[in-house]
Amino acid sequence: MPVWAVPLAAAMLIAAGGFWSWREYGRANQFRGVSVRIGVDHNPPNYDWSEQKGASGFAVDVMNEAARRAGVTLQWVYCVRGSRVALESHEIELWPTGFYRPGEYPALHQTRPWSQDQHAFVWDRERRAEVPERLEGVGVAVVNRMAPLALARQMFPGARIVPAPSRRDVLQTMCAGAADVAFMDMRTVEGMLLDRPDQCRDKVLHVKPQPELTDPTSIFAWKDQGPLADVLRDRIDDMVADGTLMRYADRWFSFSSSDVRQVLGLQEQTRQLRWLAGVCVVMGVAIGLMTWLILKLRSARAGADRARQLQAEFLANVSHEIRTPMNGVLGTADLLLETVDNAEMREQVETIRESAYGQLELLNQILDQSKIDSGLLLLETTPFSPRKLVEQVEKTFLPMARRKGVELRAVVTGEVPGLVQGDGLRIRQVLTNLVNNAIKFTKEGSVEIGLRAEGSGALVTLWFTVIDTGIGIPRELQGSIFEKFRQVDASTTRKYGGTGLGLSISRQLVRLMGGELTLESEPGQGSRFGFQVQLPVARSGAAEASVAPVKGQMLTGLVVLVVEDNVVNQKVAAGLLKRLGATVELAANGVEAVTKCREKEYDVVLMDCHMPEMDGYAATMEIRKMDGAVRHLPIVALTAGVSGEERLKAMQAGMDGFLAKPVNREELASTLAALPRRDVAAE
Ligand code: ADP
Repeated sequence: MPVWAVPLAAAMLIAAGGFWSWREYGRANQFRGVSVRIGVDHNPPNYDWSEQKGASGFAVDVMNEAARRAGVTLQWVYCVRGSRVALESHEIELWPTGFYRPGEYPALHQTRPWSQDQHAFVWDRERRAEVPERLEGVGVAVVNRMAPLALARQMFPGARIVPAPSRRDVLQTMCAGAADVAFMDMRTVEGMLLDRPDQCRDKVLHVKPQPELTDPTSIFAWKDQGPLADVLRDRIDDMVADGTLMRYADRWFSFSSSDVRQVLGLQEQTRQLRWLAGVCVVMGVAIGLMTWLILKLRSARAGADRARQLQAEFLANVSHEIRTPMNGVLGTADLLLETVDNAEMREQVETIRESAYGQLELLNQILDQSKIDSGLLLLETTPFSPRKLVEQVEKTFLPMARRKGVELRAVVTGEVPGLVQGDGLRIRQVLTNLVNNAIKFTKEGSVEIGLRAEGSGALVTLWFTVIDTGIGIPRELQGSIFEKFRQVDASTTRKYGGTGLGLSISRQLVRLMGGELTLESEPGQGSRFGFQVQLPVARSGAAEASVAPVKGQMLTGLVVLVVEDNVVNQKVAAGLLKRLGATVELAANGVEAVTKCREKEYDVVLMDCHMPEMDGYAATMEIRKMDGAVRHLPIVALTAGVSGEERLKAMQAGMDGFLAKPVNREELASTLAALPRRDVAAE
């Protein structure tokens, strides 16, 4: 279904609802000012006629009130020959109540029932104790009207039906002994018990209501006046709702409650039906609107997903494009540092190196922040040693601390598990940022990196703290420095550098890991940053993910095939490897690499992933398909694509290791040295 169809359907439903209400209003008022004739005869207390009072009775009151509400004038006419004759001869247009027999009188219209007539047997207790179960041969007096006669004939087969001219005569016929029992409607019985016909005055009468013989009654109308009768019938609904009908019933019936209950029962059904229709319309509209909203949301989400996908691709490309030349700059600077002896030139090269690292750091921060902003930053779960992580961070920052004359120490307390499952790289990133800040903002004193473990069993909570004795952070700024680009004051950038992104990223990383980054600080006294993460303890035997670079590692005698399309990066990799004592051969793309591996034995392949003709993944898969020992050849990715996805792709293609550009000498040496040598892997 197209999206526009749903609001259209909802609008149509609302329009239909509006049209219906408008039509109902019109219908209710269409007979204002109209005058009609309505007939009665003697049937108290339902209706009755006298010369002095005219029409009176329950149904008369009800019809008068219904007519008043509809703006219709009723002229009551006394009809000696009964309702049907009066209606069919056009003497009158309406009759207030008659047994509801839809379709039985084709020339007449019957409204929905508005009342119910319950029937009863009345008999003389002196003549018979009970009315027998079966009425065969028993004389039953019934008013000589079509509907009651038909009802009696149908219900009492075999009984001797004795028709009486009027309702009053029914009781009289029984009391006179012409019939054994009188069969009449309860309302007549009620009216007559208080005002008995002469023949019945001294009798002991017994009344037995017949609840199963209850007949609905409706307004009868001459066919053309059907719509008017229906409008009057609708107004009776209103009278039930506002209690008017109950008041009339109380006035006319001694047993009004049962009578009214029946009317209310009928009314309730109608009302429930209307409610149901209303609820259906409202629900239809609501469901329509909801479906429309869901479809809208779904298409918006699809759009957002697409935008996110594009952003992810863009970020990966930007990262790749910047890292590739940066690898060249940094690698060349590293090589230069090893060859240049002149102190001044060395200093210049150091400046190049530091500036390039600074830029790389900035790139990493901007990429991280935009990944967090777009929800693309995913955590990786691998086994790592928390203790080693802290020690590595300490080791990394020792030279910087020493240069500043600040004491740096790591303090590990509690039972810290050997390995835990989590994103060690991201925890290291947070800790690195905190320690870097701590040393940066401390002139003298100390910086302490703390690790405390809590909990035993499958889960452990690791508390990391970085405490310094530095300049501290003013209380009013302690909340805001976690915001993006926020520094204590503008002079910070000039004096200490930095972007103000570090703490914001750190806090968001910690939150992604389910923890919270907190700060306590006293200006002039120092700061204490802390965060906690809860991680599963890795089962013993799990392999540690990251190999910590080992200083002074050499690769003497290792034959390495460097597969790299960028000439500068070829030179950098070859230069670094040669300096480590390795023998290097070059291939410019995947196709060349596959050919070379076929022709010659290498100890390891350093494989760039993005290359023309055949990329690193495809080349690795080709090599893994080869016959012989060569298919076990260790292959390490050396790529500028650093996302988790790229790592996964490399592993899936069958690579054994992963190095991100720009790579430094130690990382390169440690990673390659940790690989199994050719003779071990041979089949
Ligand atoms: P950056 O250090 O890149 O400017 P951060 O988000 O890491 O960005 O830090 C934001 C600011 O918080 C810093 O510029 C500094 O003003 C303040 N700050 C952070 N750590 C410390 C600390 N240990 N001592 C004093 N000030 C700090």
